[in-house]
Amino acid sequence: MSLTHRDEALALDAADPLAALRDQFDLPPGIYLDGNSLGQLPRRTAARVAQVVSQEWGVDLIQSWNKAGWIALPTQVGDKIARLIGAGPGQVLAADSTSINLYKVLAVALQLALSDELGSASERRRIVSERDNFPTDLYIAESLCRQLGFELVLADVDEIAGLLDERVAVLMLTQVNYRTGQLHDMAAVTAQAHAAGARVLWDLAHSAGAVPVDLLGSGADFAVGCGYKYLNGGPGSPAFLWLHPQHLRRLDDEAIWQPLSGWLGHAAPFAFTPDYRPAPGIARFICGTPSPLALAALDCGVDTVLAADALGGMAALRRKSLALSDLFIERVQARCAGQGLSLVTPSEQARRGSQVSLRRDEGGYAIVQALIARGVVGDYREPGILRFGFTPLMLRFVDVWDAVEQLGQVLDAGEWRDERFQRRAAVT
Ligand SMILES: *Cc1c(COP(=O)(O)O)cnc(C)c1O
Repeated sequence: MSLTHRDEALALDAADPLAALRDQFDLPPGIYLDGNSLGQLPRRTAARVAQVVSQEWGVDLIQSWNKAGWIALPTQVGDKIARLIGAGPGQVLAADSTSINLYKVLAVALQLALSDELGSASERRRIVSERDNFPTDLYIAESLCRQLGFELVLADVDEIAGLLDERVAVLMLTQVNYRTGQLHDMAAVTAQAHAAGARVLWDLAHSAGAVPVDLLGSGADFAVGCGYKYLNGGPGSPAFLWLHPQHLRRLDDEAIWQPLSGWLGHAAPFAFTPDYRPAPGIARFICGTPSPLALAALDCGVDTVLAADALGGMAALRRKSLALSDLFIERVQARCAGQGLSLVTPSEQARRGSQVSLRRDEGGYAIVQALIARGVVGDYREPGILRFGFTPLMLRFVDVWDAVEQLGQVLDAGEWRDERFQRRAAVT
């Protein structure tokens, strides 16, 4: 693909088989390239949440746990997410935040490793991860290491394979790096880790709804992921978690608990017994009372991605996502040549998620602010990284064309040097 005129981008949109998916969203003016941080608002969400508020809460009150099926939402929405990540029914739970889910699942992964040691000579006490992994993942892992006597070993992405040996219990990776947009080959990396006897926990925060994921097919062990990014579940949406069924079974066989053993993950919560007995299957990973408001919104968000099923599903979304990010890269190279921008994200499609990160040593934050003032929303991550997400559900090729034109104008005139673009807000 090599476009030289805006009309050609318009022609690509006219021929786009996924174009109709955009109608599922209530879109404000401007060009939003930050669906990788907070997905856009689906049209159905406001009415659905209003129904939960006014009827289910307002009128039916406590009865809604049964009558409106509130109590089943974590597993029902989990089953829908399962279809997007190559997991089976009854294997995914929508609950809590990604950080909390990581805590629960990683704790179980470490306990399984300790359990493996019984009667064997081996001692696996390491978690290996990327130094550039999202900080919450590293902080949660560090906390569990302190509690359970493990060691967190961090390395650059290229050094990870060399660290996989008989000391490693868990390899913990985010499939698409939040900063660089680099994509790991889940099947290949999982196989490498398994060959060394380690298990793999994948964070799918930037994968679910963005790239095709096949957890069962790639032999993955554990996964967590985020609801408010490409799943469009809304700010602070519940996240999700998954365990391979073979590990889930071992929890029963070996009486291993998830660490946040709250009452709603009990086998019989309404028996109100003083002793904990885990619910069968994935439901034991529920801790406390879920939010039906938030789950209703997440349900609507997941539906916007599942709507692509009739049009080729995640494979078709991936094709469009790559075409969009290819166009962005190509246009930046053409329109913004000589402006000090370098490409951080791998240009090779197989190593790229659904975002493109550019780096500029000077003014990165201010350039993003100047773009936002022009209606083009990306975000900024240290050090010097301008981050642009490409959500194929609603973005058009012409949006990409126009966004790069705006970026070019911000740079040409040095507009970003203006005082008002330098002030840092609490959230970047
Ligand atoms: C966005 C993101 C999170 C978010 O965690 P929260 O608990 O929702 O704040 C976690 N991990 C990764 C890799 C992310 O990209």
